[in-house]
Amino acid sequence: MEECIFCKIINKEIPSTIEYEDDEIIAFKDIAPVAPIHILVIPKKHIKSLVELEQEDEALIGKIYRIINKLADKYEIKEKGYRVVVNCGEDGVQEVQHLHFHLLAGKHLGCKIG
Ligand code: 5GP
Ligand code: ZN
Repeated sequence: MEECIFCKIINKEIPSTIEYEDDEIIAFKDIAPVAPIHILVIPKKHIKSLVELEQEDEALIGKIYRIINKLADKYEIKEKGYRVVVNCGEDGVQEVQHLHFHLLAGKHLGCKIG
């Protein structure tokens, strides 16, 4: 089976601008940013989407939010704020089938969520 595009980024088979990395999580710049700051934070474990989360992933998801907090410090966006988005499935318009958290910031993002 063809490896997913984010697994290729994790394995450095395709380049990306990495903003954070440890043994479980990697964060990199979105290739088509919709805000001045648009980072994708992903688990290195290939989890397809939110619907595939298991009990053993609970700590990992908590850690992702802690890393987002670190990134918010790095980009100095805590005061102005930011948005975290996870698209899931067809109606959620998820394009890449590897769980990812969009961190969006650097402008007023408006109030439209649907
Ligand atoms: P989704 O629509 O699945 O929530 O978001 C997928 C995101 O991945 C999109 O914002 C898209 O721009 C980004 N993306 C897709 N392919 C690549 C890639 O090869 N490199 C990077 N850095 N981002 C990608
Ligand atoms: Zn993957």
